Amino acid sequence: MKGWKLVETAIFIGLFFYVTYDLVSGFSQYSWETVSGKGFVSDFFDPISQKKEYYKSILAVIGIFIPIFTIWEIFVFLFSQFRNKEYPQAGWGKISAILRRTSLEYQPTFLASTLGGLIPKILMIDVFWHWLPWFQKYSFFTITFTWYNWIYALLAWELTTWLWHFGAHRIRIFWCLHSPHHAPQEFNMTVAWVHFFAEGYYTTVLQLFILMILGINPAMLVVIMSFEVMWGTLIHAGERSLKTGRLGITRFFVMTPSHHRVHHGRNPLYLDTNFCTLLPFWDWVFGTLQPLRDEVKLEYGITRKVVVTNFWDFYFGEIFLLAHDLKRAHGVKNKLLYVIMPPGWSADGPDHTAAKSRKDFLATHPGLSLAKKRTQFTNFFVTLARKVAH
Ligand SMILES: [Zn+2]
Ligand SMILES: [Zn+2]
Repeated sequence: MKGWKLVETAIFIGLFFYVTYDLVSGFSQYSWETVSGKGFVSDFFDPISQKKEYYKSILAVIGIFIPIFTIWEIFVFLFSQFRNKEYPQAGWGKISAILRRTSLEYQPTFLASTLGGLIPKILMIDVFWHWLPWFQKYSFFTITFTWYNWIYALLAWELTTWLWHFGAHRIRIFWCLHSPHHAPQEFNMTVAWVHFFAEGYYTTVLQLFILMILGINPAMLVVIMSFEVMWGTLIHAGERSLKTGRLGITRFFVMTPSHHRVHHGRNPLYLDTNFCTLLPFWDWVFGTLQPLRDEVKLEYGITRKVVVTNFWDFYFGEIFLLAHDLKRAHGVKNKLLYVIMPPGWSADGPDHTAAKSRKDFLATHPGLSLAKKRTQFTNFFVTLARKVAH
């Protein structure tokens, strides 16, 4: 294992220089093209002159912030490492201390993104060429481009995001695929790069199926999905680039880095909350919206101990653990339950699910959630639904 660890560290050092260089050179090329009036960022000015396609301007602004934050965070991190007074002041001792800390911060995300980056593009092409036209056959109607239809499409998209993401946390087999995104114990922009390579595929297929039934126009989806990818990356801005990440009063209308930091927390209060990416709406409706509380200091990661510099544990650890539980379980029914019940569920032992931990915590700290407001709101819908049904 020690031999493998060395190989992993060596790969990481190479990747660190390569990816950082790629980021900086890509960004400077991007900026240069903008200055000379070409490229993606020129979209920022185009819609103003054309008085249409305003979303391009917003995409351009978010698009330029992403590399700025990512490069800035890496720069601030390295700077703080070289100035760290607790490390030996010179020589090999200092280099190895910096390397150790850099591995903990960036090794899992750089390695996972390199592996993940090789496959999804091919898979996503398949989603749009193969699945989408097939699902379209089942849509009874397709909405047109009016402003209220855009709101409908956005809410529908967010609902499907909430659904798959909730399932990814509450169904063990899907958690196996989602857990690498949560395994990093540091929070920075590069965490957005970590996804199990097959996850984007099954979630998009599921989302498209529901959205086609709901009559969403595929062209609208492309716009919303571009927003989602960009905003979904931006909300991983760590404390080094956006200190509180609360974004002022906008936090009531959009998901902020602060909301998403909570989603990455392993404190009982924060487990399985804030599943949305763009709007806090469905989290609010379903009672999973959780603001960051000053009383509960965030600890990032998942509840079991993960060695982030061991790629096998980091990326496949949950799959190994499920396999272990399946081997141990008696009877087909128990085996099946291990696959579909929430992580932490056990056939014979105590309940270690996130829902239970959160409930226990809130029983002793009732003022820290938003649960009360949700109950009234959900009750309203439940009563309305009953009235309609009768
Ligand atoms: Zn998640
Ligand atoms: Zn995330």
